[in-house]
Amino acid sequence: MARYRDAVCRLCRREGIKLFLKGRRCLTDKCAIEKRNFPPGQQGKSRRPKKVVGYGLQLREKQKGRRLYGVLEDQFRTYFEKAAAMRGITGEKLLQLLERRLDNTVYRLGLAASRAEARQLVRHGHIEVSGRKVNIPSFQVAPGQAIAVREKSRTLASIQRALDLTGGRSMPSWLEFDRAGLKGKAVSLPKREDVNFPIQEQMIVELYSK
Ligand code: SF4
Repeated sequence: MARYRDAVCRLCRREGIKLFLKGRRCLTDKCAIEKRNFPPGQQGKSRRPKKVVGYGLQLREKQKGRRLYGVLEDQFRTYFEKAAAMRGITGEKLLQLLERRLDNTVYRLGLAASRAEARQLVRHGHIEVSGRKVNIPSFQVAPGQAIAVREKSRTLASIQRALDLTGGRSMPSWLEFDRAGLKGKAVSLPKREDVNFPIQEQMIVELYSK
């Protein structure tokens, strides 16, 4: 599957906000947003900050969401179309679909330091959902399902490192986590307030509704 392979810190600098794409480094003063919080490229530093409005703002919010969850353009639009066909507020449904991705769920449980690391855990077959191996990062986690590290993968150093890093992070209300058992459970669907990141989903809806 195609994926972004360039330097990920450029994405944060482009959006002017930490997207937490690199795990431990994001929490240190080596973070590019801490050191160079201006857009990437030759003119980045000298360009005067412009007030972004209208289409520009809608585009930036969409790119922010896409980059945060590590989803490519076509897939992101598919999520929007699914959300638009659902009952309820389209923007909130869009965020709900993104939150329910298995890679995001593994990250939110604290089993990986970043969503990219979580995606790799899933792809490499280290995660099971309700007792069955699932290696599809976009798998939609449903309420009642248990998400666990598979028996053979429980001693993986990357998981232990991630747990040490994410131990103090608060758990979203739709998830429960048993650290000793390396397993979690979706107790409900994610709610808007579970998305602890500044994003204006209504702007994304307006962009795609043109
Ligand atoms: Fe973004 Fe993390 Fe890079 Fe900082 S270290 S710019 S938060 S990916």
